[in-house]
Amino acid sequence: MQPDEVRDEVRAWIAEHWDPELSLAEWRRRLVESGWAAASWEPRWHGRGLPAWADGVASSELHRADAPGLPLGGGTALAAPTILEHGPDSLRARFLAPILGGTETWCQLFSEPGAGSDLAGVTTHAVLDGDRWIVNGQKVWNTSAHHADFGLLVARTDWDAPKHRGLTYFVLPMHQAGVEVRNIRQMNDHRSFNEVFIADAEIPREYVVGAVGDGWTVALTTLAHERRFAGGDRSPIQGGGPAREQARHEMDDYLQTYRWYPQRAGRVDLAIPHAHERGRGSDPLVRQEVARLWAMHKVSEWTALRARAARAAGRPPGAEGSIGKLSSSRIARQAAAVHSLIGGADAMLAGPDSRFGGTIAEILVSVPAQSIAGGTDEIQHNILGERVLGLPREPGANDKIPFRDIPRN
Ligand SMILES: Cc1cc2nc3c(=O)[nH]c(=O)nc-3n(C[C@H](O)[C@H](O)[C@H](O)COP(=O)(O)OP(=O)(O)OC[C@H]3O[C@@H](n4cnc5c(N)ncnc54)[C@H](O)[C@@H]3O)c2cc1C
Repeated sequence: MQPDEVRDEVRAWIAEHWDPELSLAEWRRRLVESGWAAASWEPRWHGRGLPAWADGVASSELHRADAPGLPLGGGTALAAPTILEHGPDSLRARFLAPILGGTETWCQLFSEPGAGSDLAGVTTHAVLDGDRWIVNGQKVWNTSAHHADFGLLVARTDWDAPKHRGLTYFVLPMHQAGVEVRNIRQMNDHRSFNEVFIADAEIPREYVVGAVGDGWTVALTTLAHERRFAGGDRSPIQGGGPAREQARHEMDDYLQTYRWYPQRAGRVDLAIPHAHERGRGSDPLVRQEVARLWAMHKVSEWTALRARAARAAGRPPGAEGSIGKLSSSRIARQAAAVHSLIGGADAMLAGPDSRFGGTIAEILVSVPAQSIAGGTDEIQHNILGERVLGLPREPGANDKIPFRDIPRN
């Protein structure tokens, strides 16, 4: 099918089936059943087997009609593509429809106090006991774990295999006695992530994504999707009716966790108004730094568009993910420097009574997270060096010996 044909078909389907008087759950059920919620997925997994660009066409048509599309969050961004790619079918059948329908929520349980960049060094472990896995360990920095029904968990299942080969990727049911979620207060006073303590938690034997011992490969899929995750369409739906009201409510709830993310990205949009407001718009130094920021921002935007076009043409995620992530860190730091240059000492003032309602101070303490989340800048440099430029790999003396023999503190 050509894009115009897909557009016509989605439009006709929406005209026949969209009704704002439905509940959000009922509307999403129709949407998932129709195959337009995930048009690029195989028909047996709620899709239409169309090329990747068809997802964009369907989503823009839904938006045009102010009809709710897919829910935002770890389910659609991380869990669905990972389970879709690695299976098995029993998990695809169990989890994909509730993810598309937004009835179950997800978090990512990768990082640990002793394993962040070195993710393959996790020591949270799982042991098979009859028809269930018993898990023990601790995770940290887990965004939205306090709202999640399920966690994407990487755990060690073989201490005698080398570091990267003894891992398994699980779906952890979060609502159980063995899982304790403690919310963390951040330096910007938001509370979006958590520590997760896991003590004899149980996982059904079949809740393994991919194969036992192949968790590293599966985790790389999740990370690739995380690095290119743009956050989905966040523009609010207009109009009345239960489906729209519930969708707005769902979006508000979701954005509570992420409301500091625009500040984390540096609020490039505020740089020029900020310069005018402070009467610094004709200062040559300020102009030069704002222009530098704007140029970096535009180049990054165009690179992202090029990457999106490549994906729409069916090419797999590539180096653009790491390039995009790196440039977003640089833009955030440049934006923080520009806001400080313009604001001077006032930039440090927090609270609603300060200039820009404390937004500049919030930017300054949120920007560091941009170069850590989803893999630090240094790790992105390593990935680009090794996989794109073909430079020698980092020395990995411990990569071949059993994990239990690797010295740890
Ligand atoms: C906003 C935010 C949200 C997050 N959400 C989640 C989540 O939902 N789930 C989850 O599991 N985790 C999450 N994280 C955690 C994140 O993935 C880790 O913080 C990140 O991978 C870095 O790990 P670390 O904090 O242990 O730092 P470390 O790995 O200890 O790194 C410390 C420093 O050493 C450098 N370094 C480490 N190794 C190398 C190397 N080989 N070469 C060069 N330099 C190196 C790093 O670049 C860094 O500067 C989140 C983090 C943030 C900031």
